[in-house]
Formats: sequence, structure tokens, C-alpha cells
Amino acid sequence: MAKQFNQDSLKAWTARLGEWAVITFGPAKAEALRRRIVQELDELQEELLGEPGTGVVLAHRIEKEMGDVLVTMLVYAHHTGIDMGAVLEKVQSLNESRKWKRHGDGTGQHVKE
Ligand SMILES: [Mg+2]
Repeated sequence: MAKQFNQDSLKAWTARLGEWAVITFGPAKAEALRRRIVQELDELQEELLGEPGTGVVLAHRIEKEMGDVLVTMLVYAHHTGIDMGAVLEKVQSLNESRKWKRHGDGTGQHVKE
């Protein structure tokens, strides 16, 4: 099976980003942090969908917005005490226990049981 996931690394990033956010922006309100995640998700969506009309996507812009989404999510996790390593373990354990229907394009959907 997959190599053991190093949760310490994710915890260290969560702490680093969360502490940076407090130092840089001051004490946060959870609602404001949630809105910030949504804003960054919107920006990522725009980049994933590509240039209106042409659909052209730029890898470096997608990468930047993926980073922004991840940073805002980990800042929120730090603020609320969510252990993202535990979350990933829980979600992926569920994924690995499910049966999946392939779409034939590298994606799929779990089969209801
Ligand atoms: Mg952004």
C-alpha cells in the first residue's frame, strides 16, 4: 500500500502558516477566514476554467491559485484546530474502502453501496 503519510510535515506547515497569518493580519474571525477560502476558490476556478472564449489555461496561474487555496485552508485549520492530517487520513481511508466507477478520463465516481 501507499507509503506512510508524514503528518508532522503537514502539522508544521499548518502551524507556520497559521502563525504567519496572525502576525501579518492580526487576530482573525473564523467567518472572515471562511470567506477568504471561498474567494481563493473562486480565483482557482477561474484559472481552471481558462480564458473565457478560448479555454486556454496557464499552468503557472493554476499553480499560484492552488497555493493560495491551500494556504487559506491551512490558516483556517490552524485557527479552528482542525488536524488536516487526521482529516486526510479519514477521507482517504474512506476512499480506499469504496468501490469506484471509472469515467475513462482519469476520474471516477464512487459506487453507492
Ligand atoms: Mg488567489
